[in-house]
Amino acid sequence: MKILTIALQKEGKPIPASYELIEAAKSLGGEIMTAYLSDSDAGASDLASRGGGKVLTVTHDSLKFFNDEVYCKVLTALIEKHQPEVVLGPATFYGKALLGRLAAANGGAMASDTTGLVIDGDKLVATRPNYGGSVLSRIVKNGGGPFFASVRGKVFPESKEGAGELIAETVDGSVFESRMTVKERKVESTGAVNLTEADVIVSAGRGMKAAENLPLISELAAALSGAVGASRAIVDAGWAPYSQQVGQTGKTVNPKLYLAVGISGAIQHLVGMRSSLTIVAVNRDKDAPIFNVANYGIVGDAMEIVPALTSKFKSELGG
Ligand SMILES: Cc1cc2nc3c(=O)[nH]c(=O)nc-3n(C[C@H](O)[C@H](O)[C@H](O)COP(=O)(O)OP(=O)(O)OC[C@H]3O[C@@H](n4cnc5c(N)ncnc54)[C@H](O)[C@@H]3O)c2cc1C
Repeated sequence: MKILTIALQKEGKPIPASYELIEAAKSLGGEIMTAYLSDSDAGASDLASRGGGKVLTVTHDSLKFFNDEVYCKVLTALIEKHQPEVVLGPATFYGKALLGRLAAANGGAMASDTTGLVIDGDKLVATRPNYGGSVLSRIVKNGGGPFFASVRGKVFPESKEGAGELIAETVDGSVFESRMTVKERKVESTGAVNLTEADVIVSAGRGMKAAENLPLISELAAALSGAVGASRAIVDAGWAPYSQQVGQTGKTVNPKLYLAVGISGAIQHLVGMRSSLTIVAVNRDKDAPIFNVANYGIVGDAMEIVPALTSKFKSELGG
């Protein structure tokens, strides 16, 4: 089976999910290829030394920033040339947009936001959560065209090593023409750890009482080298930016540790975080629904518990 992984890049370096996709491809067996699109191939050698197999690089100025129209055309050219049976991309905001477009352009099947990939007989079976994780669907492709799957972050570990070689690809110049030009990328300068890539997230809810108390949450997150998340209630209240919102209408996160502080555990919040490896909840109401999904629960006042945790972690971890 030929598997193509798509290594998206940010500022000329493959995003961490690229290495998770390589690990996912390794778990399936078969021939691995990795597509790397950028304005320079400087970031590609790391993909090759970490098991990316045939690392197909396409280098052009218009590939510096993500543009789903151009990326789709370039990748379609690579897919037509190399004929992979499976194409894996990251289930990030850009990755999901790209994979859907690619599946349509290449007459393939699509499974979005998958959390499992296995070979059953001669078929690839993808698993994806539905209804907020209450149901797991098994998706099997029938018919022609490649099987496209976006893979949720942190489901697979990052590939650390393996064989690979760089192959510079040339594609027809017309694929770089686009109705859209991305001229500049401005990053929200929070200085904080990216929520969707974080191993540790400390999220605040309305139980934090007021925006003035939120530094308690960022201090705890900093002590754990983690990111800060938020419930929609406090985003709507203007206490936290939308970029921090976790849940149905916010981000889906999958950290190793998710600390929910003063969050009741509404289903719309749970769908965005309940696949976290370990969930710790702090809530003064022992019957709060968040405790139904938490591995560890602390019943009490967040204003007392959060500073106590911060000071303990600072002394233990030197944070
Ligand atoms: C279409 C739709 C989409 C939505 N999308 C999202 C989404 O993406 N993300 C999201 O989060 N929500 C979303 N919601 C909103 C969701 O239904 C809840 O209203 C929201 O998650 C509640 O936020 P909360 O837990 O912070 O607040 P609350 O429900 O008010 O809970 C506050 C909690 O804090 C506890 N508490 C109070 N004081 C303290 C204290 N001193 N110490 C410790 N604990 C304390 C309380 O016991 C309570 O459990 C959506 C709703 C709809 C209808």
